[in-house]
Amino acid sequence: MNILVCVSRVPDTAAKIKVAGDNKSVETAGVKFILNPYDEYALEEAIQLQESKGGELTVLTVAGDEATDVLRTALAMGADKAIHVKANQLEKDSFYVANNIANVAKELNPDIIFLGKQSIDFDSFQISSLLGGLLDLPSVDVVSSINYADGSITGEKDIEGGKESFETSLPAIISVQKGIKEPRYPKLPQIMKAKQKPIEVKEAIETPLRTEILEMTLPEKARAGKILTGSDADIDELVRLLHEDAKVI
Ligand SMILES: Cc1cc2nc3c(=O)[nH]c(=O)nc-3n(C[C@H](O)[C@H](O)[C@H](O)COP(=O)(O)OP(=O)(O)OC[C@H]3O[C@@H](n4cnc5c(N)ncnc54)[C@H](O)[C@@H]3O)c2cc1C
Repeated sequence: MNILVCVSRVPDTAAKIKVAGDNKSVETAGVKFILNPYDEYALEEAIQLQESKGGELTVLTVAGDEATDVLRTALAMGADKAIHVKANQLEKDSFYVANNIANVAKELNPDIIFLGKQSIDFDSFQISSLLGGLLDLPSVDVVSSINYADGSITGEKDIEGGKESFETSLPAIISVQKGIKEPRYPKLPQIMKAKQKPIEVKEAIETPLRTEILEMTLPEKARAGKILTGSDADIDELVRLLHEDAKVI
């Protein structure tokens, strides 16, 4: 099987995020970046598929100059080769990223494209659906289990409060849910071996942006909670707060 896994490079979940001086982007100085956690699950699913069916596993990112670190992590986990599409514009949006992934996918012709269910930096949830449209392929999101057959797959995807069963022909685009397979942690020999694996660098294709960021702000600090004891006066106060402050009754 020819397998493609798309990965994004995101700020560490523990990083303290600051808005940059332009009020439109994140201040990246001093921020540690990691492989998007959901993409580790996608990679593990892909590695186990390759282990059982054979074939080639390529990992791909669309990013600025600095993406080699996450590609090396993916190679150490088990990908055979990596492609770094170098972003050639200062500002990007999901369409820019998806269009560049689609451009490479048309060359590689993969049987299956794996993604994480979401990129934890900008959380737009758009890449898999955009890819489905650009490549005219089925895309199934938030997949929590997969069974492979010849030319098709079946599985389950998470929906609010339950699961949905699906079947799709291949090639297809699959975005995976956390926990589909527990990601492996590469050991020193694999990390060393990954340094010899190829990373192909490609220039991004020009893609007009379809969205513009007008402003970026940090969330407001959560307000302190109020504790009411249940006395008659507190019940009156609760009704007043729900009516006047929360405006829900
Ligand atoms: C160099 C660069 C600068 C950017 N700057 C900004 C910015 O200033 N403001 C802003 O709002 N957004 C910025 N973006 C992010 C971009 O607009 C998208 O939001 C981001 O790439 C993910 O899209 P999404 O949130 O729709 O992904 P989702 O649909 O949430 O991600 C789902 C999956 O798609 C795959 N994926 C996502 N991103 C990539 C990628 N880059 N390469 C390969 N696979 C990927 C991963 O498997 C991920 O798990 C930037 C992107 C790049 C590459």
